[in-house]
Parts: sequence; structure tokens; C-alpha cells
Amino acid sequence: MRLLLVEDEPTLRTQLRTALQQAGYAVDEADNGRDAEHLGDTEPFDAVVLDLGLPIVDGLTVLQHWRSAGRTMPVLILTARDSWHEKVAGIDAGADDYLAKPFHMEELLARVRALIRRAQGLASPLLQCGALSLDTRSGRVTVGGRPVPLTSHEYRLLSYLMHRPGQVVSRTELTEHLYAQDFDRDSNTVEVFIARLRRKLPADAIETVRGLGYRLAHVA
Ligand code: CA
Repeated sequence: MRLLLVEDEPTLRTQLRTALQQAGYAVDEADNGRDAEHLGDTEPFDAVVLDLGLPIVDGLTVLQHWRSAGRTMPVLILTARDSWHEKVAGIDAGADDYLAKPFHMEELLARVRALIRRAQGLASPLLQCGALSLDTRSGRVTVGGRPVPLTSHEYRLLSYLMHRPGQVVSRTELTEHLYAQDFDRDSNTVEVFIARLRRKLPADAIETVRGLGYRLAHVA
């Protein structure tokens, strides 16, 4: 999963980036509304964390622009403490959720998880595909109850597939959703991680759909 993080306060932005990366997300960052708007217009994000008080263009304007342009990615806004009118304006502008500053990082991570799974129509934070299960809260993956240790890249890839059960996902889509803009994307990167995942999961768990991409098979 790939997130856009928009926050102009450097210390908070660093804390957020670190926490989100540790939770397994690829993170692109912007520290002003103009760059945020451009990134949201040109890159596919699975969710956006958007501070409302931003230099150059404010967060509310950015959000209104995205929504009027038909962009539907889930957006969590960060509002000033006790500013109920900001929350109302943000939700009316198309925000999916809000969090008032200061907040606990665990709460932000839980809200981001919820936004991402709801965008895929999933009800539970525990994703299951036959014997294969992935707990988005703990980052734990098991097959038949047996833990499968994964690297962060392997986890991100599997999580993306498990959020889309039965869907064929192209290599391009995976590349765009698994790596931030500054990541050195080699065209073979996805295949390398698919191959590594296949060695750790039951045989045929990840199907290759010729010419189209990959699909998670039902693991017996
Ligand atoms: Ca701010």
C-alpha cells in the first residue's frame, strides 16, 4: 500500500513517516498544498493523510480540488484541536475521516487501516484467503496457523493482493502501489518479490495470469 503524507511541520512529518513505514506502507511526502495537489493528481495512492493548515495552498482547497476532479482515494484529515468547524468543513469537502491534533500514533494507524480496508469493501482487519491469513493490525501472516516471517517488501506485496481477493493485479499496478516515488523501481523488482513470496507460501498461492498479472489463489 502506498500513502501520501502531507504535513508541513517537519518533526511531526518525520514521526508520521517513520510510523507509517514501520507499519508497512510506502510513503510519499509533501510539505505544502501545491506539491500535495500535484502528487495526488499524478500518482495512485491507497490513502492520504492530509494536514489542513498548509503553506501555499491550504488542505481544504487541495481536498476540494481532488474531489471535484473525481479522485476517490480515502483521505484522513488532520485538524487543529477543538476546531469542530474544520472537521465539518473537511468532511463536507470529501474527507473520509479526521483526527484532531495532538493524536496518538496508534489511533492514526488504526484509522488508516480502516480507510484502506473499507475502500476495498472489507469488513475485518483480519484478511483471510483459505488457510492464509494476514492480520493488518499486527502485520502477522500465517498459513494454517503457522507463522510466516516476511520482509517489509514481501508483506506489502502480499497485503496488497490480500486486500483484493480474486482480482487480477497487473505488474504495473503493483509497482505503482508498492513503492514511493523516490524508490529505484526496476522493472523486475515486482517479479523478484513475487518469487521470494512464492518460496515462503504454499505452492500456487500466487497465480500468474498470463499477460495480465497476478492473483491470489485460494490456499487449501
Ligand atoms: Ca500545518
